[in-house]
Amino acid sequence: MPSLPEILVKALEDLLDKRDPLRKAERAMARFENSPSPSPSPSPAKTAMAEVETETDAEVVSEPASPGNGGQSPYKKPATRPAIPAAIRHTVWLRDRGQCTWRHSGGSRCPERSMLELDHIKMWCRGGKHSEENLTLRCRRHNQAAAEQELGTGFMAQARKHASEVVGPKESMSDWSPTKQRYG
Ligand SMILES: [Zn+2]
Repeated sequence: MPSLPEILVKALEDLLDKRDPLRKAERAMARFENSPSPSPSPSPAKTAMAEVETETDAEVVSEPASPGNGGQSPYKKPATRPAIPAAIRHTVWLRDRGQCTWRHSGGSRCPERSMLELDHIKMWCRGGKHSEENLTLRCRRHNQAAAEQELGTGFMAQARKHASEVVGPKESMSDWSPTKQRYG
């Protein structure tokens, strides 16, 4: 004969069992696990597919460049260009006296002193380095002119067209610069 406290505890347990969402879920799981379900047996087609997949994996593994071997993979994204060190930027700025260094055909220097950019004399994409000797101050217009001289106007027109498709016509022509980094 159960005592009163035992009856109360049992009643409480039953109540919790019905109300508690966790217990409800546990009950549902128990039902699911106990219910007879057909054991998954792979169909012949599926087995064949698995074999094909295994062969594909083996090919990938046998590639000479495996991931994690220190950037030797041909699929590695090209490294982004590091920022020009501040000391070099300052040196170039002082040397060029904060003015565009572009020389017009008559020999006069471009007077532009605003919107200046550090331009690579030998372009970064062609192996030019972040060095004092390879950097010069140019205004945006002459930055672009220099790039057109280096790469050809056809390439630049194509690049600008591509840029206008990517960023939209509003920003394309005036704000886009192919290789350059604004000073400061
Ligand atoms: Zn200029």
